[in-house]
Amino acid sequence: MSQEIWQFQNDITYLTLPTWEEKGARIIFTSRHTGHSQGAYMSLNMALHVGDYPEAVLANRKKVLQLMGTDLSHMVCCQQVHSNQVAVVDSSYAGRGSQHYEDALPSTDGLVTATPGLVLATFYADCIPVFLFDPVRKVAALCHSGWKGTMGLITTKTLEVMSSQFNCQPADIMVYIGPGISSCCFEIQADLADKVLSAFAADDDIIISKQKRIRWDLKETIRRCVINFGVPESQIIVSSWCTSCHTDYFYSFRKEQGITGRMAALIILAGGKSNEEP
Ligand SMILES: [Zn+2]
Repeated sequence: MSQEIWQFQNDITYLTLPTWEEKGARIIFTSRHTGHSQGAYMSLNMALHVGDYPEAVLANRKKVLQLMGTDLSHMVCCQQVHSNQVAVVDSSYAGRGSQHYEDALPSTDGLVTATPGLVLATFYADCIPVFLFDPVRKVAALCHSGWKGTMGLITTKTLEVMSSQFNCQPADIMVYIGPGISSCCFEIQADLADKVLSAFAADDDIIISKQKRIRWDLKETIRRCVINFGVPESQIIVSSWCTSCHTDYFYSFRKEQGITGRMAALIILAGGKSNEEP
C-alpha cells in the first residue's frame, strides 16, 4: 500500500493519502507553515487552547478548511483530555469546537462518523493521530493517542465503536498512524516503562532500553493494537515522520518545552450532506 505524501496546494503544505481519497475519504495532516500565528506559534497553529490569539487560529482553520472545500460550520472538535472516550457524531454536532474550545465535545478523544461532509478534527504536537476509514460501510474516525490514550487503548475503543455502531468489519478497515513523536525521541522513566510492559506483556520490544535511555515506540504499540483487532497489516500505514526530530515541519511539545502550536488531523467523507444515513 502506498504511503503518506506531502502536497502543496492553496499555499498550504500538508500530508495526505491519495489511496484513501480514491476510496472516498480525504485526510489532511497540516504542517506548521504558511499561517497567521506569530512567535512560538509560528505559523499555522490550528488549536484554540494553547494561548495563541483566537483570531489567528480561526484564520488558519478557515484557510485549511477552504482547501477541503468546506468551512468552520462543518467542523467537529473534541476537548482531548487524554481519555479513551469515543463519540459518534452526525450533522447535529456540526460546528462544535470550531470557533470556541469550550463547546468542543468534553472528555472525548475519539470521533466516529458516517456523515459525508462533516470534518472530524483533532490537534497535535507529538501525540499520535490515528485516522480510520471503512470504505465499505463509509465510516470515518479519528483518535488522539498520546501515551495515556495508548495505555487506555483509545484506538481499540474507536475500532469497537466503528464495529458496534456501524457494523464495520476489521477486514475492511484502513488505518493511518500519523506523524508524532517516534521511538528515536520518546524517552520515558523506568516506572512508566514498567507499566507499559505489564499492560502490553506480549510486546516487550516496544520498550527499547539502551545506554541508560528508555524509549517507547508508541506508533508500533498502536499498530499492534490494530492488528490484534483483526485489521490486515497490509491496510495499516505508519507515518515515517517524527515530530520531535522535525520542528522545521512540525510543532513538538517536548522539543519546544511546552509552549508551541498544534497541527490538525482532519478527515472528511466524500459525498455531501444529501447522502447522510437516517
Ligand atoms: Zn525523533
